[in-house]
Amino acid sequence: MVEYTRKIQDIAKRLLSEKKVDAVIGYRQGSVPMMNEPILVREADKIDQLYWDSFCGVNLANYLPKRKERLAIVAKGCDSRNIVVHLQEGQIKRDQIHIIGVPCRGMVDRRKVRAKLEGQEPLRVVETGDQIVVEGKDFKETFKKADLLQDNCAICIHRNPVLYDELVGELVTEQSGVDRYEDVRAVEDMDPEARWKYFEELVRPCIRCYACRNACPLCYCPTCFVDESKPQWMGKSLDPTDVRTFHFMRAFHCAGRCTDCGACERACPVGIKVRQFTKKLEKDILELYHFEAGIIPEGRPPLDVYRPDDPEKFIK
Ligand code: SF4
Ligand code: SF4
Ligand code: SF4
Repeated sequence: MVEYTRKIQDIAKRLLSEKKVDAVIGYRQGSVPMMNEPILVREADKIDQLYWDSFCGVNLANYLPKRKERLAIVAKGCDSRNIVVHLQEGQIKRDQIHIIGVPCRGMVDRRKVRAKLEGQEPLRVVETGDQIVVEGKDFKETFKKADLLQDNCAICIHRNPVLYDELVGELVTEQSGVDRYEDVRAVEDMDPEARWKYFEELVRPCIRCYACRNACPLCYCPTCFVDESKPQWMGKSLDPTDVRTFHFMRAFHCAGRCTDCGACERACPVGIKVRQFTKKLEKDILELYHFEAGIIPEGRPPLDVYRPDDPEKFIK
């Protein structure tokens, strides 16, 4: 992905030198392999730090709400959809942002790489075409990138940015014939007791660190319901009831807004598959309202519009 890196740097250089934007939000290489991190570049001497490969899973739209300056932002398909959600929710203005669109080929899951290494410590991880080359003290291994994709990326059908000012490369062919909700249906098919047990086990390791919430571009409220103490909406302990309440309420706050970008799941330090909550609601919104979040920039979310043929009587 060297060519994307060079293109992003070129665009950033041009936008900053022509004073079209005040800063560029992109990625730089992390201090450990497979952990690229966000960077906000204001000065020309930092442009060389901008970087791209398949470990840029952080959703940069998370850094837009309430910003006042003019910004350029690097955006994959899912990031661009979250930018659309921010525009629809009044978190940022369109003329404030210059979107550097990245046609995405999927992000690699560092946990899947580590599982393949069976305890060996990776010191250098390089992407070459469709392969991931991992080097450590006494080893060098090559894997197929397709086998290591994040779960959400493997089933992603919106890899091209939906909204952009310029692209860093040719648009990619979108995946088709993907069954996005096989796992959700498996849970729906359980009897209530088994389903209860499933979610109980799913969140049992949760330490309520809120990394999932903090990584999500949708969670921008000045005071989150979990932090509020007057009134206190829910307990702050690790009691299973409090933990479950947090997860269910967070998922409902994301209903009709989640783009399945996977940033929440990627951030969880104990590896909880938190998308099991949001995907169910994503499926319901699609089936009930034929709506996917952030796809149509000029559209409005389903719970934000009135339809004269609404089947609910209370609306008439
Ligand atoms: S969800 Fe889609 S657009 Fe987002 S990183 Fe994965 S493949 Fe790329
Ligand atoms: S990131 Fe993981 S451990 Fe932390 S609150 Fe979310 S689910 Fe729980
Ligand atoms: S809930 Fe998770 S998958 Fe959905 S938009 Fe937020 S971070 Fe992305």
